[in-house]
Amino acid sequence: MRKFLFRSLLALCLIALLLVAAVWTIEFYPQRNSHPPLKLAKGTLAIEHARIYVSPTDAPIADGTVLIRDGLIAEVGPNVVIPADAQKVACNGCVVTAGFWNAHVHFTEPKWKWAEWKAADKLDAQLADMFLSRGFTTVVDLGSNPAETFAIRRRVERGEVRGPYIYTAGTALYPPHGIPFYLKETLPGWMTAIMPQPATPVAAQAVVRRNLGSGADVTKLFTGSWVERGHVLPMPLNIVKAAVETTHLNGKIVFAHPSNLAGTQAAVQGGVDVLAHVPDDTRGITPELFTTMVKQNMGMVPTLKMFTTTVTSDPHYMDPMYAEVWQFKADGGTLIFGTDVGYMTDYSTEQEFTELGKCGLGWQDVLAMLTTSPAARLGQSGQKGTIAPGKLADLTILSADPAVELTNFSKVQAVVRSGAVIWQR
Ligand SMILES: [Zn+2]
Repeated sequence: MRKFLFRSLLALCLIALLLVAAVWTIEFYPQRNSHPPLKLAKGTLAIEHARIYVSPTDAPIADGTVLIRDGLIAEVGPNVVIPADAQKVACNGCVVTAGFWNAHVHFTEPKWKWAEWKAADKLDAQLADMFLSRGFTTVVDLGSNPAETFAIRRRVERGEVRGPYIYTAGTALYPPHGIPFYLKETLPGWMTAIMPQPATPVAAQAVVRRNLGSGADVTKLFTGSWVERGHVLPMPLNIVKAAVETTHLNGKIVFAHPSNLAGTQAAVQGGVDVLAHVPDDTRGITPELFTTMVKQNMGMVPTLKMFTTTVTSDPHYMDPMYAEVWQFKADGGTLIFGTDVGYMTDYSTEQEFTELGKCGLGWQDVLAMLTTSPAARLGQSGQKGTIAPGKLADLTILSADPAVELTNFSKVQAVVRSGAVIWQR
């Protein structure tokens, strides 16, 4: 009897040990070394006879050269002497801008599962399809499984696969009992149950500290969550404030999903830095609220194509959102480019540019959304956002001029990151 008990206990211990080992291997091992150092490519690259938009506000260089040395911009201008050893990047009347940012993406589709162990060529193709072929050299993941995002980031930065630089929010925070209906409908119950829905300010601070401690770069809050069709649950203000305070104490910023008036008010009063969407239920939202947002220096990522393709293109739904984006911009607000790819499975960017045009934005506004504004918001103006000597050689090369037609921002010919051509059409 005693022998039997001993054996059973031993078997149970073994099973428990195996379970712990499995969870560690799947969830925690891929999260190691979450901030690998940036590697700069060696050598000299030249892009000749290009139309160069060094920034959204400088006059374009009609026929110029960008010279890159060891990962950084060495020179840019109309009369640059190209050294004999420089490798030339095909241009043929191309347009060169600073590398694009997409400040709202997710790695939540099933194809990113097991990113730690996925074949490099497969991961390469996925990253090219989702980001590089769209011109993105930097992306901000606003909520995914950190095991996936950190594994992808590490493999990209080590040079195993080609991809953009990735910032991540780790896991997003939801209101108590506040998982959105579209996640409840698509994810298994056990998964939505473990998603952070802190009920107290102290619990919210603990989630934020854990996220940032494990390597997240920003915080994402659902200050307004569509818990049912037609019903938004706002996050209690004391929870928003606690999460924001802890994030700011760590020198990081907070993105929020607002949804409606209550969700936007919670974000504004709670001190959130960037709205991850334009509020889509616009009822009750006044111009004064936007004025307050601008005064607080809040940014906004409109994600208009996501709304028009995944909800409805009905003008009754979309027109007020175009008006909100225009109002925010007219008041001096900072718009940032983002598409919500990952949640949205169509990765093409052309329609987002069309939608931004419908808001009354010009190509310089959109170029700022793609480059200088996100770089400034993430504290990277010294390294990214414009084409200037000493900055990182992150460049997007287009085959057509966006000043002529906004959708030409989607005609990507090649992408340079940290001085290497990482994608070419
Ligand atoms: Zn999203």
